[in-house]
Amino acid sequence: MRLYSGFIVNPLENTGGNVCVLEYIPEGAIVVGDYGQIEFVGTRIDALHEFEGVPEEAFGDAMILPGLVDTHVHLPQYEAAAIGTGELLDWLNTYIFPLEARFADEEYAHLRSQRFFYDAVRLGTTTMSVYCSSHRRATDIAFEAAFHAGLRVCMGKTMMDFGAPENILHSSEKNIADSLALAKAWSGAGSGRLLYTLTPRFAGSCSRELLKQTGEVARTEGFRIQTHLSENPAELRYIAELFPEHASYTDVYHAYGILTDKTIMAHSIYLSPQEKMLLKAHHCSIAHCPCSNRFLQSGVMALRQMLTEGFRIGLGTDVAGGPSLSVLNEAKEAAESSKTWNILHRGEEMPAISAEESLWLATLGGAQALGLDDIVGNFRVGKEADFIVCQPDEALPQHSSFQEPAQRLARLVYGASPNVVQKTVVQGKVVYAG
Ligand SMILES: [Zn+2]
Repeated sequence: MRLYSGFIVNPLENTGGNVCVLEYIPEGAIVVGDYGQIEFVGTRIDALHEFEGVPEEAFGDAMILPGLVDTHVHLPQYEAAAIGTGELLDWLNTYIFPLEARFADEEYAHLRSQRFFYDAVRLGTTTMSVYCSSHRRATDIAFEAAFHAGLRVCMGKTMMDFGAPENILHSSEKNIADSLALAKAWSGAGSGRLLYTLTPRFAGSCSRELLKQTGEVARTEGFRIQTHLSENPAELRYIAELFPEHASYTDVYHAYGILTDKTIMAHSIYLSPQEKMLLKAHHCSIAHCPCSNRFLQSGVMALRQMLTEGFRIGLGTDVAGGPSLSVLNEAKEAAESSKTWNILHRGEEMPAISAEESLWLATLGGAQALGLDDIVGNFRVGKEADFIVCQPDEALPQHSSFQEPAQRLARLVYGASPNVVQKTVVQGKVVYAG
């Protein structure tokens, strides 16, 4: 058992509108039990009284926050972070598909996977929803790396059977068989930290047969699903040409059983009211990726509207569509992107997302979007102890006269640099210490 004291920031509720509640305990503490569960959240004084003799790790006025949740990211693309020009489809062909093909090499896959997870925990990420390459063995290697890095993943082999170079395509039968074998090997491993997710890349690289089999397996086995939806105008035209029999992009997924309450859709920028209704009816969640949406010139998602409409939304770095693995940076961009939406839609403005709401999305919001909020996402007795300790650096003036808790949090979000994370803990175990 261990007592961690510091400035506790605890996301509580978010009604989607303007009500977002974060609890701040400036001289606070959490107590973590021997099995990595949270035993106490409250003031340091009360913790010391109730847990007398328990060793204390004191962080002074450093912030202790729930671990960051990255709801959408591509492991094999990490090397291309910040590289490339152009929009989604050209960028995939020019930079990404050749890079993903390299994961056929096991040694390469091993080194890249290790580096990816090390950098993620260094930036405070404790949970990630990850697309691996299309190779079964490379996905195995990625699970091994995640196991050793100690973080929590929902992860799967990217399934494709057309629309990409031959060397990264597999038949629909092999895609499903490989996914089932990987799920059997890894689901629930690492004390429940590793979870398998069926990962059809998007309707533009999955045949009707592959989509159908994915939907069937998800239904019979209860799998999670992650895929892309409505990201970029050229992609929308491509999907409409491929599936002329369907009313919309979302309807393609609906027809093949891809829309479930365990499905997370990345991007979802250009949805019609009918498409939103379909997603809502099936309780799908959304990975909002503002950095990627701008890097690839895809668009600006109406985040406030989607939250108000009751969607479960988390943040995704979408590396390498997004140039950074930092979820704190993504939180800053979520706030700024919602302002950009207002600028582009004068007359329809809605309140922009605050730094507090962004942090909520980066933690409890992400956990909800991945269906993990009964386990992680905030500090509650009985949940698993996934948390980070952040010491805001001097990128912004920390000795400013603005010292309200929400103002301190805003400086942390807006001054996000790789150096702010001092410690990353998953299930009560330290996975990174700076
Ligand atoms: Zn993506």
